[in-house]
Amino acid sequence: MTTLESTYLVWYCRACKKSCKTQPRTETACRCANPVRGMHPTKVTQTHEPEPRRLHALTDEEGRLRSLARKKQRVRVTYEAEVSEAWLVRGAGDEKRIQFIVTTADGSRHHVDPRLPGVRMEAIPATEEETS
Ligand SMILES: [Zn+2]
Repeated sequence: MTTLESTYLVWYCRACKKSCKTQPRTETACRCANPVRGMHPTKVTQTHEPEPRRLHALTDEEGRLRSLARKKQRVRVTYEAEVSEAWLVRGAGDEKRIQFIVTTADGSRHHVDPRLPGVRMEAIPATEEETS
């Protein structure tokens, strides 16, 4: 860890001898109604230990998600949404395939092709819906 240094110019109040102005501006100690600012600023070098790097405490969920971030990791992605649109497309031959547009709780719409490998759509049971 390196120690940080910052240099300020500090003007002291002649009435209370406390700092009443700094440059760059930081908190000052003088609370006089009418500070009597000294003519000449004093150069003050402050050293301070850098704040320990903020380790964002990973939530369990975030940690869990990060552990999935590996190429070729096989995952199952599920989300809940409302069906907004459905239509049939004619596939190879005369086969008709159903396609969906679903809307998630944040209002965004997603195309779902149930024929994509691994995609599975199912109704959310009404009892579960109430609690979520
Ligand atoms: Zn003062």
